[in-house]
Amino acid sequence: MYTLGIDIGSTTSKCVLLEDGNKIIATSLVVAGIGTNGGIKCMNEVLENAKVKREEIAYIIATGYGRKNFSEANGELSELSCHAKGVHFADPEVRTIIDIGGQDAKVIRLNSKGILENFLMNDKCAAGTGRFLDVMATILQVPIAEFETQARSTKEPAKISSTCTVFAESEVISQLANGSKVECVIAGICNSVASRVAGLAKRVGVKEEVFMSGGVARNGGVRDALERELQVSIKYSEHSQLMGALGAALFAYEKIGAAE
Ligand code: ADP
Repeated sequence: MYTLGIDIGSTTSKCVLLEDGNKIIATSLVVAGIGTNGGIKCMNEVLENAKVKREEIAYIIATGYGRKNFSEANGELSELSCHAKGVHFADPEVRTIIDIGGQDAKVIRLNSKGILENFLMNDKCAAGTGRFLDVMATILQVPIAEFETQARSTKEPAKISSTCTVFAESEVISQLANGSKVECVIAGICNSVASRVAGLAKRVGVKEEVFMSGGVARNGGVRDALERELQVSIKYSEHSQLMGALGAALFAYEKIGAAE
């Protein structure tokens, strides 16, 4: 039996197709989020990847900012629940999830059963989110996928003192004008995001194991900086960005089980 989880975020849409509630048979990711046709494109892509027809899917759960506007779904659930569910399935030892997406950052504490114990979220300010990184990538004309290599290539990160994205933008431009190297500025940008999110994590209380989900988990510059700030090692996986969609697909399977 197939169930589908779809996570329609601010920046990207992600799908996970599950077989019998425990086997990921296909995934998809489209760089188009809420307010676009990214959700439909993403769903069509995952069906195509798996060679499965829409009618064969028993239940679809949507999550993410765009979840309420996705008419294909049979139900919807919050990202907090879905990330907790997805990460607990992927790694039951995890007790703290740091989820940095395109427009917000969340720190979630789980118990040994994967139930959410506590969380804090920043969705008011672009600093400490993927948005901050994406704005800087545009200014620097360096693809976001190269931030990890660039940040790791220097031991002299620039100091970005502005906490506001708009002011940090001018700060970055003047640092470049004053001769700072691009890799040092990138390392400084990654440190700045990590320090904002570490503040959130310290308020929630960090308990190991720690896992990073969301698209920014793909940026090793931010992961390294978070490990330094929090003095813990941080796990992540190639599926980190898909954890919300995975959780939604798992909930969809439970829903069918409950109905039978
Ligand atoms: P949302 O769910 O809000 O749409 P995601 O969890 O998909 O957000 O994360 C999107 C963010 O992930 C982007 O803002 C970007 O900074 C980061 N990102 C995406 N792809 C990469 C990559 N290849 N390397 C580093 N960072 C990435």
